[in-house]
Amino acid sequence: MMPYEEALEIILSHSNLLSTEKVLLLEAPGRVLAEDVFSDTDFPSFDNSAMDGYAVRWADIQKVPAFLKLVGEVHAGGEVVPKVERGTAVKVFTGAPIPEGADAVVPVEHTEIEDGQVVIKTVVKEGANIRRKGEEIKAGELVLERGTLIRHYEVGILASLNKVNVEVFRKPRVAILSTGDEIKDLGEAITKPSQIRTSNNYTLLAGVLSAGGIPHHLGVVCDDPEKLKRVLSCMHEYDVFITTGGVSMGEKDYVKVLVSQLGVDVKFHKVRIKPAKPVLFGTYNQGKGLFFGIPGNPVSCAMAFDLLVKPALLKMQGAHDHLPKVLRARIKRDFKRRDAERREFVRAIIYLDGDALVCNYSQKLQSHMLTSYVGANCYLVVREGVKEIKEGEEVEIVLL
Ligand code: AMP
Ligand code: MG
Repeated sequence: MMPYEEALEIILSHSNLLSTEKVLLLEAPGRVLAEDVFSDTDFPSFDNSAMDGYAVRWADIQKVPAFLKLVGEVHAGGEVVPKVERGTAVKVFTGAPIPEGADAVVPVEHTEIEDGQVVIKTVVKEGANIRRKGEEIKAGELVLERGTLIRHYEVGILASLNKVNVEVFRKPRVAILSTGDEIKDLGEAITKPSQIRTSNNYTLLAGVLSAGGIPHHLGVVCDDPEKLKRVLSCMHEYDVFITTGGVSMGEKDYVKVLVSQLGVDVKFHKVRIKPAKPVLFGTYNQGKGLFFGIPGNPVSCAMAFDLLVKPALLKMQGAHDHLPKVLRARIKRDFKRRDAERREFVRAIIYLDGDALVCNYSQKLQSHMLTSYVGANCYLVVREGVKEIKEGEEVEIVLL
């Protein structure tokens, strides 16, 4: 059985970068930037006021109250009118250009108007409330690096740089297929008490969407090698092919044999993790396609996606930040198990208790209980060889 890190490393070493394409700015959220983006101007592009107030010469307000002659005003988007000369002030609004001669802005709440004069009641620091040209970004500076996941913040930054078209990596096309005589798709009639509705197809479809891929629903196929082979043979149409179910050691578990017959180069079958041990991974299309055979238990399915498939999808899209996020927290209550052979990933929640991050794990530990994810925001990681963790001990967690 392969250790988790090794399995992930093998998968990532076969997760090749997809090609790139240009998209409009509003198609960019959730995509990964495929170009370095530079600024052609300084940000801010001119000195401007951070407050509504009065632009003054700092030397004039060393003693308060200071009385200054009001000589004009400038709005955001306005033209700078008079200079600020000794003993004078110009009224400014947030975002307005700073008049020549001024080296501080006194917020309006620290001032009064008396007999047509501005009375400065509080001393401010030299340069106060002035946003300086170039203080955020210098012209020519690298602002967003290739490999950055574009969120709404990056969209705003790209907009401020006037980027209408953005070069991003292509979305991976991912096929999802469920196998099992007992599995019925949504809307299909359940005709026997032993039949169940698929959750895995939809967990995976939604997971692929959230990881930036284009999921393709291939439905459910029964445990019939001929039928299964027919569906699997369309594999080369996709960048990634995921099956769920039929990959363990049962008599009707045909996936491994069939994919080998279809030319998948199997890299491993079985990872030392709990649940989801019988995960199979291989490549096809001269190493360009990734095949994942994921066991059918709904928790195994979701977990194998999070820990093994999602990092691959992100890496194929060029994301620098493709690995699961690890944190540390204090465990809320004792954890015990008998068999410590595998690394276990237990659905859990972390929250702030006082100033400590605390991790509490689900009561539902078994791999068929998908509702163990309700309210969960992380996995509690129980390493190989660990049989017991005592309340209050520091534990490793992986964010969902
Ligand atoms: P298998 O991996 O085929 O041995 O299936 C393991 C368990 O997962 C069995 O109890 C199956 O009924 C269940 N299972 C398999 N496929 C799905 C699915 N698509 N949705 C929900 N449960 C499934
Ligand atoms: Mg099965």
